[in-house]
Amino acid sequence: MATINSNFLKLKAGYLFPEIARRVKAYTEANPDKAGRIIRCGIGDVTEPLPSAVREAMHAAIDEQGDRATFKGYGPEQGYEFLRQAIVDNQYASLGISADEVFISDGSKCDTGNILDIFGKGNVIAITDPVYPVYVDTNVMAGNTGDADEKGAYAGLLYLECNAANGFVAEVPSEKADKKADLIYLCFPNNPTGAVATRAQLEAWVAYAKANDAIILFDAAYEAFIQDPEIPRSIFEIEGARDCAMEFRSFSKNGGFTGIRCAYVVIPKTLTGASDTGERIPLHQLWSRRHSTKFNGASYPVQKGAAAVFSEEGKQQVAELIEHYMGNAKLLREACLSLGLEVFGGINAPYVWVGCPDGLTSWEMFDKMLGEAQVVITPGSGFGSAGEGYFRISAFNSRANVLEVCERLKTLIA
Ligand SMILES: *Cc1c(COP(=O)(O)O)cnc(C)c1O
Repeated sequence: MATINSNFLKLKAGYLFPEIARRVKAYTEANPDKAGRIIRCGIGDVTEPLPSAVREAMHAAIDEQGDRATFKGYGPEQGYEFLRQAIVDNQYASLGISADEVFISDGSKCDTGNILDIFGKGNVIAITDPVYPVYVDTNVMAGNTGDADEKGAYAGLLYLECNAANGFVAEVPSEKADKKADLIYLCFPNNPTGAVATRAQLEAWVAYAKANDAIILFDAAYEAFIQDPEIPRSIFEIEGARDCAMEFRSFSKNGGFTGIRCAYVVIPKTLTGASDTGERIPLHQLWSRRHSTKFNGASYPVQKGAAAVFSEEGKQQVAELIEHYMGNAKLLREACLSLGLEVFGGINAPYVWVGCPDGLTSWEMFDKMLGEAQVVITPGSGFGSAGEGYFRISAFNSRANVLEVCERLKTLIA
């Protein structure tokens, strides 16, 4: 008898984005005359074209594949040296990270999920609420949780509540807390709330991780959107992080690679975990083994395109993309503020996190925005129960759409 991984049966049926799609479909079927007016600010996907520096590098790489002398088959599983070195030179200069501590992949979504292969059972997993749902669902699949309750919270997870009082930055659990975290997922700048952590806040997390022999899984997918020079861009800017953290980064949001696929994880060689017998084992060694067993490297043209993000031209073009999206974020943020709404994010992140007016729930606000303004937003409650009463507006859009959304918000709420 072939059995299945029954942990999958605990998953709350892929709730958020399918439900948004279902409601949008139902609305357009009932209101075909309004269908053309719909503006989507829901999904966190980039909208602007791939930088020309990236496209040119990819074209050239494809042509190399057409010549026997330059043809390349399987590349190194860990990624080409040219890309790993470019990442270190451009993203980690002076942070003590070396190119052989970087592993190239085809996405941070996969990396943040796959990393659980190298961790043991029984770890206490700390997850923020609200949260990027991938961290939760992959832990459910791996058997690291019990069942979900009626609010969608899984037994066994250590939820770190983020709210207006803590500015949506998770606080370190108190010394007296009955549960100590072993693995801690942090995402800054944050999806969905747009929150960023200060140096002091990250120092507190590193101190907690070191004191409790825990590991921080730091998702820095939105690092490029940080505007404030005081806000750390990498967990490795914090002293001691090399011994208690790994960092996930992606070309998806800065370089517009959501459809091209390229990302990386940085695992310092000094980062260790305990074996069943208490021996300290470098996680770098385990991930290297895992990655080369289950992955055959990101494609050569894609890695060439990713490296072009760090060329002079590429840097300039990425800076323009960031400026475009952050200009959108500013407009959306200011429109919401001018309506007297409670607003977080949108300053160092491409997401604006907004309190629903008049005590509406997140889904009530979703329906109101869709029905009265034909704007699709993301209900905050879809990211966790602490997101109830908020909604997320994505700044990934054209300028024209953003200006139109700002206008419609005004007629809707004023
Ligand atoms: C978009 C995003 C990523 C990047 O995912 P890819 O698989 O590299 O496209 C990672 N983490 C968060 C929180 C994201 O929103």
